[in-house]
Amino acid sequence: MNTSTIITILIIGIYFIILINKKDSKLGINLKRVFCPKCNLKQPFIRKPTSVRQALYGGSTCEKCKTEMDKYGVEIN
Ligand SMILES: [Zn+2]
Repeated sequence: MNTSTIITILIIGIYFIILINKKDSKLGINLKRVFCPKCNLKQPFIRKPTSVRQALYGGSTCEKCKTEMDKYGVEIN
């Protein structure tokens, strides 16, 4: 295996990681810290799910203003 083969595999790997982490993918994993869309409070990385949806897909409820958001920090109405 030469260097260019390894680089190609790496690029494909990164591409797939980006693909599964697209904003509209509920199954993607968001490893970035999420901030409340309303009050900008940093959400805890390890959160207690407050609903079945949160347990399944992630997301959190802001402790300060009780805004519900998904795991990407997008407000859920
Ligand atoms: Zn908030």
